[in-house]
Amino acid sequence: MNKTLKIIGSLLTLLVLLPIIIVVTLQITNLSEDEERISNIYQNQLQSILFSLNQYSEDFVSSWKNQIKIMNINFDGEIENNEQQLNKLLSENNALIGIFLTGDADSDNHQYYTINNSIDKNIIVENIKSEISLNTLKIEKLKRFDKSGYDKIEPLGELSDPKFSLLLTILNEKVICIMVVDAKQFIIDNLSQKIQQATQENFVIAAGKNESRTTIYSTDKFDFENENLSLALWLFPDYNISIQLKGQTIKGLAKNRLFDNFFILIILSLVLIFGLWFVFRLIKKEVRLAQIKSDFVSNVSHELRTPLALITMYAETLEMGRVNSDEKRKEYYSIISNETNRLSKIVNSILSFSKIEAGKRKYNFEFIDLNVIVNNSILTFETQLMNEGFKYNFDSFSKLPEIKVDKEAVAEAVINLIDNAIKYSNEKKEIQVRTGTDKNFVFVEVIDNGVGISAEDQTKIFDKFFRVTTGDVHDIKGTGLGLSLVKHIMDAHKGDIQIQSKIGKGSTFRLNFRV
Ligand code: ADP
Repeated sequence: MNKTLKIIGSLLTLLVLLPIIIVVTLQITNLSEDEERISNIYQNQLQSILFSLNQYSEDFVSSWKNQIKIMNINFDGEIENNEQQLNKLLSENNALIGIFLTGDADSDNHQYYTINNSIDKNIIVENIKSEISLNTLKIEKLKRFDKSGYDKIEPLGELSDPKFSLLLTILNEKVICIMVVDAKQFIIDNLSQKIQQATQENFVIAAGKNESRTTIYSTDKFDFENENLSLALWLFPDYNISIQLKGQTIKGLAKNRLFDNFFILIILSLVLIFGLWFVFRLIKKEVRLAQIKSDFVSNVSHELRTPLALITMYAETLEMGRVNSDEKRKEYYSIISNETNRLSKIVNSILSFSKIEAGKRKYNFEFIDLNVIVNNSILTFETQLMNEGFKYNFDSFSKLPEIKVDKEAVAEAVINLIDNAIKYSNEKKEIQVRTGTDKNFVFVEVIDNGVGISAEDQTKIFDKFFRVTTGDVHDIKGTGLGLSLVKHIMDAHKGDIQIQSKIGKGSTFRLNFRV
């Protein structure tokens, strides 16, 4: 049996430990891979936020272009009869400093519209013209794009002083349009709101100038040491948008996730181990019960056979009339009666047990003095105690309050305890029965000076069929049902059993009943 238990135990342990070991090993070996994967996911997310900001900037500048496009522009770059609209566009957009229009890259016919008179127009125009001559290829390319219906705006460089950005686009397939934009102002006026929206709760986004690393706009304190991702604005390549996770780095985030995973794994493992332990305990109990049941069958057969053999033997002797003296005859009769009693006790406890097991046992509760029940129970043992040379006494507490119990059941419990005290007494044949009160309890105690019970066995003796099988105890007959019956009865009375016992010194069983 023990071998089977060991095999089941090892199998169950293997079953739980193996997946745990595999998962932990995989987690550890995949640690850097995981970090990279999470990092990639976040980088992608950051990238898409930056993409959307770039897209938004392009759309915004496109809307300027569209407003310019619908004004009547001739091929000399002149806007006809639309002064008002133009002024409105420039005055509503502080970032749009001026608009340069010309029909031909080489010609001198051009127009520069601005409402900002603080800056010298001529310097700006000269600068733009030199940029045009440097970028003829780009201009040709954009013209081709415009012809094929592809609306494109491209950065054309930056003016040196003041530092304005030039944005190039083509209108009506031919007109070169250059918007002079104050990128700084554009970020503050037009992009900041969108940046704020894109931030969500987890990010900090900052826009700034590349080379000087100065921040123009930031949604929160930006820690450049821990920057996660930084991309140039498509239209203003000298300006960057940087994004980072609020309060932590991607690496830290990946590590956190890993720790979370480990934490969950540990919790799951603990649950699994607990489950394993629980299943193992159940199996152990079942295996033990099977063992105990088979012991029970052989015990009971033996228990029945002995009194039956004695009864048959003495009855036959008497029947044949071979016993001449009255004294002998009386002795034989008393043996037959004792053995019959023993038989009925065994049969009764088996019946009582099966009734309880089937949940059919009924209790009739009534108020009664425990002393009366105990006294009657002792009386049933009087002859036996005397014949077997026991010293016994009943120490009854006189002021015992009445308790509500089933007197038959309680008598059965007390009888079982006294029967055990007799059975498991060695040479020291002394039994004491005591009643008393303690806090809210009324109790009866059966004290013997017999073989005693080890601490380990004390936890098992109330299990059905359990019998201590070490020492001299296994020579004593029994079914292993007595104490489990006592326990059932006490449970039904909402009382409890206490035991104090020491091997070789004796045992005290106490039944506590609530008052
Ligand atoms: P049984 O006496 O028929 O074996 P019980 O359920 O009454 O069954 O008792 C279970 C076991 O507890 C006994 O086999 C015995 O080993 C132990 N036991 C019970 N009462 C005593 C006692 N008073 N002294 C020592 N051992 C006892």
